[in-house]
Amino acid sequence: MPFWITLLLIFFFGCCLGSFLNVCIYRLPRNLSVVAPRSFCPHCQTPIRAYDNIPLLSYLFLGGKCRNCRAEISWRYPLVEALTGGVALSLFLKFGPSFLFFSTLGFAAALIVIAFIDLDRRIIPDVISLPGIAVGFLLAVFGSMVTIKESLIGIAAGGGSLYLVAFVYQLLTKREGMGGGDVKLLAMIGAWLGWKAILFTLFFASLSGTFIGGGAMLIQKEGRHYAIPFGPFLAFSALAYIFFGSQLINWYLNWGKF
Ligand SMILES: [Zn+2]
Repeated sequence: MPFWITLLLIFFFGCCLGSFLNVCIYRLPRNLSVVAPRSFCPHCQTPIRAYDNIPLLSYLFLGGKCRNCRAEISWRYPLVEALTGGVALSLFLKFGPSFLFFSTLGFAAALIVIAFIDLDRRIIPDVISLPGIAVGFLLAVFGSMVTIKESLIGIAAGGGSLYLVAFVYQLLTKREGMGGGDVKLLAMIGAWLGWKAILFTLFFASLSGTFIGGGAMLIQKEGRHYAIPFGPFLAFSALAYIFFGSQLINWYLNWGKF
């Protein structure tokens, strides 16, 4: 099989996974089952036929509208599908056909679901982050990107550091800035990627959060108390770490030597 067909199949596999993630993003916060019933139009409740449920393609064929009621389908659905497809492809190119590819894809999928649920509802569901901590640690025991020690320190550093920041923030401003969900998410990231990833993730999430959050505050003036969810920044910084983390850390550590 030519390599490009393999890559195309991996991308499509990722888009199908993304289609399932859309279901999770919509249903988990509403306490609905992610397995049954099958997907339906949120506007007219009509079940979506199998041939109208092909990731990316159906959205394009249907012009972004429900076949039954012509209500517009959010562009976020194909976006999440394409994003997951792109992440799957990138992970495959990095890890090849290996266990690490599948486990890391599972981790990335959890991050994507968390990011979009947090964006929508300002919550990070425990049903993902808490098992996520346990699975990340178990994988470290049985062989993953990190050692058991790195994973354990990662959990402690992730949970502890953000808890400390949240505590001090609350003490100074008397407002709750970061939710307990962020703390559990960072502990999960630490379990999977180790403590070095915590430093990287916190740094990049704060940096990008400050820029984007500051920009958003400037645009909408009355929104001074509008708290931008931190979860999406943490999630996407952790994703970035998988791809660029070790290079950036090495670059930084070698910087002083020139
Ligand atoms: Zn409809």
